[in-house]
Amino acid sequence: MSEETIIITDPDSDRYHTFGYISWWKQEVVRNATVMVIGAGALGNEVLKNLALMGIGNLLICDFDTIEDSNLSRSVLFRTTDNGRRKVDAAATAVKELNPDVNVMAWHGDINFEMGLGVFRHVDAIVGCLDNREARLSINRFSWAIQKPWIDGAIQELMGIVRVFWPGQGACYECTLTDQDYQIIGLRYSCPLLARQNLLQGKVPTTPTSASIVAAFQTQEALKIIHGMEVQPGKAIMINGLTNDIYTTEYPEKKGCLSHSVLDPIIELPEAHSNSTTLQELLAIARTKLGNEAILEFDGEIVTGMYCPTCDKEEPIFKKMARLYENEATCPMCNGRRDMRLTHRVTGDEPYLTRTLAQMDLPALAIIRGRNGSKHAYFELTGDKETFFSFA
Ligand SMILES: [Zn+2]
Ligand SMILES: [Zn+2]
Repeated sequence: MSEETIIITDPDSDRYHTFGYISWWKQEVVRNATVMVIGAGALGNEVLKNLALMGIGNLLICDFDTIEDSNLSRSVLFRTTDNGRRKVDAAATAVKELNPDVNVMAWHGDINFEMGLGVFRHVDAIVGCLDNREARLSINRFSWAIQKPWIDGAIQELMGIVRVFWPGQGACYECTLTDQDYQIIGLRYSCPLLARQNLLQGKVPTTPTSASIVAAFQTQEALKIIHGMEVQPGKAIMINGLTNDIYTTEYPEKKGCLSHSVLDPIIELPEAHSNSTTLQELLAIARTKLGNEAILEFDGEIVTGMYCPTCDKEEPIFKKMARLYENEATCPMCNGRRDMRLTHRVTGDEPYLTRTLAQMDLPALAIIRGRNGSKHAYFELTGDKETFFSFA
């Protein structure tokens, strides 16, 4: 117990009055915090509700989905009239109603490919409220890359698991994956080329009770992380609602785990913006820092064009291969199959050097690798920070 002075406010005028009695609680820390909640489903609803009630200053809500009636049995923030709305928008509205003090930002998109890695660097806590292994694996790798902890929650029927993964401290999410998990992930990507629309969500039965129990633990872990308090990385809180057993278990770290890869050094570029900085300009920056032979490298392949051998025509595309849909491979002229023109690097000879990074399908606050032989650095489009984090 700390000896710090407890400030008791007027219960009639301060909605956070009761938290003032908790010795370690610092409302100004909570008010200044930015928390990213990934997934606005059953767990996300509950986590957002809790964070809003506590007066978290800034909430970044991320999801790609829209609301259907079957969500209503487990989603405290959604109403019947929300059918068809984007989950992030309905959640943002409800959070604001619940507590107008909270700044909310709704981000609609695919967290696997459409979020700049820098976003993860500039939040105080990352809460994963996901229902699939792929997104967990993505977030785990992002979290390792930029050395930030994340809080995972998982529910099925009356069971739940809560885990804090902290890069370099104990097992990470990927350390816990079994061969069967990899197989399930592999099945979903069995046709990795252009088959993303076939990615079906594995439906797991969940209840509002398991969601609220697990989300409550997740929120508490986020609260501790924000306050700089101790958490237990690499351990799982296992909750069995049938037998009422709750216990913690520790995972072993996996040697050679593919997630254990850190972007180092990351160089912040306050002058770089995804919407205005061109490839040429970023390459020039990389060359000042790394030498004249430096090139830029992307994490995945970028499709620069689609070429139809029958029509002998190339259409410029400039989109991450992972974000391409099957129908984009079909030639609109002859309906034949087109070939992809791919690149994952920029050497300075490209005809499209005047394209901006956004026009290369790189999102706000993206982090891009520059390399010159064995020398390398990671450049963050830090100029996007202010516009990206514009909480309404
Ligand atoms: Zn690992
Ligand atoms: Zn054609």
